[in-house]
Amino acid sequence: MPASARAWVACCRIGSSGRCRRPRKVPKKAPRPKRRPPKRRSRRARERSAVSTDRLTNEQLFERAQRVIPGGVNSPVRAFRAVGGTPRFITRAAGAFMWDAEDKRYIDYIGSWGPMILGHGHPAVLEAVQRAVTEGLSFGAPTEREIQLAETIVDLVPGIEQVRLVSSGTEAAMSAIRLARGATGRSKLIKFEGCYHGHADALLVKAGSGLATFGHPTSAGVPPEVVQHTLVLEYNNIEQLEAAFAQHGAALACVMIEPIAGNMNFVRAAMPFMKRLRELCTQHGALLVFDEVMTGFRVALGGAQSVYAAAIPGFAPDISVFGKVIGGGMPLAAFGTSKAIMQHLAPLGAVYQAGTLSGNPVATACGLATLTEIAKPGFFAALAARTRSLVDGLQQAARAADVPLAVDSEGGMFGFFFAAELPQHYNAVMATDKARFNRFFHAMLDRGVYLAPALYEAGFVSAAHTADDIAATIAAAREAFAA
Ligand SMILES: *Cc1c(COP(=O)(O)O)cnc(C)c1O
Repeated sequence: MPASARAWVACCRIGSSGRCRRPRKVPKKAPRPKRRPPKRRSRRARERSAVSTDRLTNEQLFERAQRVIPGGVNSPVRAFRAVGGTPRFITRAAGAFMWDAEDKRYIDYIGSWGPMILGHGHPAVLEAVQRAVTEGLSFGAPTEREIQLAETIVDLVPGIEQVRLVSSGTEAAMSAIRLARGATGRSKLIKFEGCYHGHADALLVKAGSGLATFGHPTSAGVPPEVVQHTLVLEYNNIEQLEAAFAQHGAALACVMIEPIAGNMNFVRAAMPFMKRLRELCTQHGALLVFDEVMTGFRVALGGAQSVYAAAIPGFAPDISVFGKVIGGGMPLAAFGTSKAIMQHLAPLGAVYQAGTLSGNPVATACGLATLTEIAKPGFFAALAARTRSLVDGLQQAARAADVPLAVDSEGGMFGFFFAAELPQHYNAVMATDKARFNRFFHAMLDRGVYLAPALYEAGFVSAAHTADDIAATIAAAREAFAA
């Protein structure tokens, strides 16, 4: 520590980012004079002052944000680049609704990109978080709540015997790949175009020119050498999959997949494709990694893997990655698998992985409360039915306006495409009608319905969305399709 810094610490016994000042003697407070209750202002006056003095518009906030935050946002999709226009700055949310800086209310179909499966401000979740906050924000030492959350995940997902908790989906996916490589002693991995697994270097890849060549980075700052072991294939393409295994099978550590892809809108891996993928992985000793950061505890209580297990006897992935819903809106993610594979992880094994805030006591309280609510009998049946009623309603409204619209949903997750049929892979998704989507998005936003601001994103319904909210959404869509 440099001498100047030490002096600073000595001077300010509690470090702060403010200027260093000598402690002043605080004069004993004189008793406050009793204040008269303030005069009640008229509602008009209060409203006027709220708009003119306190509040900036979305536009003004966006301008201000762009001065100090690149693009004005802390995650790119929030900038509305795909659809154009001004991002809404959210001030608060409750149940199925969010309010922006101009106090406009929206029915929220993003739900923080999945986590808010109970809606905003569920009382049981708030209570658990508030209690946890008073007990301490972070300890950097183990807690019982981490065990409870791990036990809950192990109970809910067959095939998982142990989990490690981390703070983001990116971190979980990155760690799962390191674990797969460490456990198999192999380097190569397969991912699929249009699947997103967070922004770890090795995963920011697009397909090379042929199967013999590995991928190219999709981001500046990722050296080609870092992605030289990553092979990118077309989703739902069995032929490519077989060719890739024939050529690289013995060198493959793992195949990572979003079983129902939510980062190219909503695309299911077809059953025959998934079945063949499982066979090939087993045959060649590659680990099948399910990235269920979005689908986990969202499409069903057992995640997308339970949907595939229901159709393919004995089906299970080797490693599962979770995030979003398991944190219930707080930074929390996890990866898990068999005890045998997890033994490779530090401190037991040679695969290093760590995190200062991993298993954070407030985040685990939030996640546990959320999982407790969604595990209640009938929760997913009701959520799935409500979500289905939304996409069915959208499709009927589109049909009435002679607009081609393909829809799908599973549990509380949905997708819709301005196309005659459901796309099966990334290029088909990107070939759907973008201009139409963007018009529809803004027409809905104007009418107080907040959908994901890009045609390649999925949508989310929460338990707080009522039949009336769905009906209001469909009524807005009827107008938007006609516009
Ligand atoms: C959101 C997401 C991630 C990344 O999670 P972060 O918490 O944003 O890092 C990874 N995989 C999938 C499938 C996701 O949807």
